[in-house]
Amino acid sequence: MVAFRQFLLKIHSRCNLACDYCYVYEGADQSWRGRPRRMELATVRRTARRIAEHAAEHGLDEVSVVLHGGEPLLVGAGHLDALLGELAGCGPRVRFGLQTNGLRLLEEPALLDVLHRYRVAVGVSLDGARADHDRHRRLPSGAGSWARTAEAVRLLGQDRHRELFAGLLCVVDLAADPVETYEALLEFAPPRLDLLLPHGTWLAPPPGLRRRAVPGAPPSGVEPAPYGEWLIAAFDRWYDAPRRETGVRLFEELAVLLLGGRAASEAVGLTPVDLVVVEADGSIEQADSLKVAYDGAPGTGLDVWRHGFADAAAHPAFRARQRGLAGLGPVCSGCPLARVCGGGLYAHRWAGDGFGHPSVYCADLGRLIGHVGGRLREGVAGLGVPLRGAG
Ligand code: SF4
Repeated sequence: MVAFRQFLLKIHSRCNLACDYCYVYEGADQSWRGRPRRMELATVRRTARRIAEHAAEHGLDEVSVVLHGGEPLLVGAGHLDALLGELAGCGPRVRFGLQTNGLRLLEEPALLDVLHRYRVAVGVSLDGARADHDRHRRLPSGAGSWARTAEAVRLLGQDRHRELFAGLLCVVDLAADPVETYEALLEFAPPRLDLLLPHGTWLAPPPGLRRRAVPGAPPSGVEPAPYGEWLIAAFDRWYDAPRRETGVRLFEELAVLLLGGRAASEAVGLTPVDLVVVEADGSIEQADSLKVAYDGAPGTGLDVWRHGFADAAAHPAFRARQRGLAGLGPVCSGCPLARVCGGGLYAHRWAGDGFGHPSVYCADLGRLIGHVGGRLREGVAGLGVPLRGAG
């Protein structure tokens, strides 16, 4: 039975931005409309108790709690302080993370004191250069949000707050230049970058992808793969830097997987899912990205009031994500790249009749994995280290 180690709490269900690609408000799932705006302390307390029970059942000394939204910092400093206090004292050691658009850090400086008190690792969503970011990430007025976000990231980068700064999260946009995007992000000296593929499915393909049918075979290498090409350009810029400028999670995870290791995220690889979501009303759900598939897709019918996380672990939706290669559909399980690719993100496999299909990004993932593998091979060969089995 799965032991959940990551608990993602949706502590505020509304946002102070109006991004056009947001899967919470613009995806097929519209469940946010019926949810309370913020997670009340009684719900937090109940969730903390459920986490403690689960950690005790599985002998976990440490768990990770990620605060998410909407925009989680809309809860305000007082409520944030109270809810972090409830969670910090629940039993196991808790590592806190938070994903934000950053704007509230400028409006309510007391939030930073609270984040320091609980050593919360803060990731900020920033989509590269100003024009590229502002194309999608807008204020409700329609104005771009780059200037305010950049100001917030610079604040986090100051010496007194630097320990909070976990990194930047950027959604890939084919209209943006990959190298310029990487270098624009690098200007903020982030400890780490996450480059995310925009969410999409076979029924609602991501921008710029025309997919007419679910493929019946692994990638051939000849199909168009614009996202693969975009990521390859960014990878080469990152990999060829004369010194290590920052970490890029997707690239590092692919390298680890190609060398036989395990990935930590669910975007690639076959590692069993150990993340569970608690919504603002206490509902227990699967990963948020499933909201792009259909209305209610992340739902389990469980909640922290009536159920423990052991009930979630026994739920068929979570069990389906524990089976590694055996959990993939027929095309992916026969694919030579499956151990590294893992069929891509689960949500991206949706084709209207289940998740047993390759990712809508199949061609892109195939191209990227082939390229990264080739570069690593060249790199190792260039070291002159004798390889086992070499003649
Ligand atoms: S999605 Fe990944 S594992 Fe599945 S067929 Fe495509 S490249 Fe292979």
